[in-house]
Amino acid sequence: MAIKGIIFDMDGTLIDSRLDFDQMRHDMDLPIEAPILETIESYTGLRRQQCNEVLRVHEQIGVEKATVFPGVSELLEYAQSLDLKMAIVTRNLHEFAVEMLRMLPVTFSPVIGREEGPIKPDPWALCHICENWGLETHQVVMAGDYRFDLEAGKRAGCPTLWFSQKRVIGNSDWHQMADYILEDNFQGAELLDRIIEDHRDSS
Ligand SMILES: [Mg+2]
Repeated sequence: MAIKGIIFDMDGTLIDSRLDFDQMRHDMDLPIEAPILETIESYTGLRRQQCNEVLRVHEQIGVEKATVFPGVSELLEYAQSLDLKMAIVTRNLHEFAVEMLRMLPVTFSPVIGREEGPIKPDPWALCHICENWGLETHQVVMAGDYRFDLEAGKRAGCPTLWFSQKRVIGNSDWHQMADYILEDNFQGAELLDRIIEDHRDSS
């Protein structure tokens, strides 16, 4: 089969860390709706350091509160039974990600956090993983719950899978970057079969 691997986003896709991004922005005194990591990145010196400390505290709390979304463990076990390679690309810190991923029944390799290179929507991490796996990007699905995941997937050349977590598609147009939509995690096995079938002849 042509599909050989899946790269997952972590937070909001597999794991609900219940990070309160609005509270985070408030604690950092960032503008409403500002992309947090990119905004911090644009700061220098003490301001940047203070924001990073606030972020770290929130992320640590996230690790303690994190839960696995229903149906995710079953989906991952099914992917493993198909011998699909699995990796994580997250905008979280690697150390926190590794801690949260222990809740899941499968192993991901590699787990790429934000300190390791350009972050999503940059496709760097996705291309890097595919290269290490010895696969073409069209053989690897990029799965996530947010626009950065889909955009990174599209830019890398991966088929994209949006985990909607039953959220309603809003007015934004970024959902159109999703080649596949998973509304109910318990239908993940079925959808994986479909994705594999769709790409069977494209290797
Ligand atoms: Mg996410």
